[in-house]
Amino acid sequence: MSDVDFGLQGKVVLVTGASSGFGQRFAPVLARQGANVVVAARRRDPLLALEESIEQDGGRCLAVVMDVSDQASIKSAFDQAEGAFGCVDVVINNAGIGLSNPLLKVTEDEWDRVLDTNLKGAFMVAQEGARRMNSQGKHGSIINIASILGLRVASHLSHYSASKAGLIQLTKSMALELADYGIRVNAICPGYILTDINRDYFETDGGKRMIQRIPQKQLGDIDDLFGPLILLASDASRYMTGSVMTVDGGHSISK
Ligand code: NDP
Repeated sequence: MSDVDFGLQGKVVLVTGASSGFGQRFAPVLARQGANVVVAARRRDPLLALEESIEQDGGRCLAVVMDVSDQASIKSAFDQAEGAFGCVDVVINNAGIGLSNPLLKVTEDEWDRVLDTNLKGAFMVAQEGARRMNSQGKHGSIINIASILGLRVASHLSHYSASKAGLIQLTKSMALELADYGIRVNAICPGYILTDINRDYFETDGGKRMIQRIPQKQLGDIDDLFGPLILLASDASRYMTGSVMTVDGGHSISK
């Protein structure tokens, strides 16, 4: 029996939405696993700061500006990644926006922004990545950051839930078609993860009641996503494709 290899030595990993939140935390972890990391988002300054800090720690990183709703910008980012590192082996579709609004008040513009970023954007980035892996004759891994709100619903998040449910089904469609090319596609569905944005809410009575509905009766931390992320990026998951991993303290299976 061979040892399990969770290492990312020599792999080139592109992370979208790396200018804040999850993506900003994912990038240094991937670099410490040995990956050459390409960090992408629309805001350049936080990406440059991240690139500098990863390189100061001895990692290899390239910051590229990318708007996932703009195909030309996606192509340009992949060109820059290939120019620096030769190829992209792993794509992490993490960029996303969440707007909250009651169903009857959601505007067409809000609907389009959420769907264009969370679903169409993820599709275009994955398609571009897969085309390039295939044209270089390389195997690869695509990881879509969905949400438990793609599996269950909550009020005022109709557009967000629809985008994440679509992303889960897209993950399975892509996995089916891309298996022939040796490209694996999987999704991670985070539950309620404590971040600066929701910290105050979870201190309120409503927020505390929400936590009690989670079977593990606690919120997740961004660190809880690192294990599944590294597993799916590495060859340790070489027989996994089309899977949907929940990281939610059991929330998706609760009443
Ligand atoms: P943040 O708001 O902190 O970060 C979102 C990132 O997406 C930013 O880096 C932003 O960068 C980028 N982004 C947004 N729009 C675009 C675009 N058009 N093109 C390129 N990049 C874009 O969110 P989180 O880190 O909390 O969330 C990350 C992912 O995880 C999202 O997909 C979210 O839906 C999902 N998720 C989050 C949960 C949570 O509890 N936080 C729970 C479940 C899922 P910039 O503005 O510079 O472009």
